[in-house]
Amino acid sequence: MQEPNSDLPGLGQFYCLHCDRYFNNASVRDDHYKTKKHKKRVKIMEGAAPHNQIDAEVAAGMGHPDNGPRLQVEDSSMAL
Ligand SMILES: [Zn+2]
Repeated sequence: MQEPNSDLPGLGQFYCLHCDRYFNNASVRDDHYKTKKHKKRVKIMEGAAPHNQIDAEVAAGMGHPDNGPRLQVEDSSMAL
């Protein structure tokens, strides 16, 4: 929880933790969330935490949890 802080835009209530920025209101912050600059920051920060990156890839249907060697993947493709 953020304490209201009159020194910050929007009293410090509309914060982007990825970019370390404060916004005047929720709609300005939401617009910021859609920017490439923000999404790039999100990617970089999630890349720093391996388990989060895997979760994101699974959610996007781009990959699967793979903690073992690639040999297992080759086996399953042979079966197809
Ligand atoms: Zn941001």
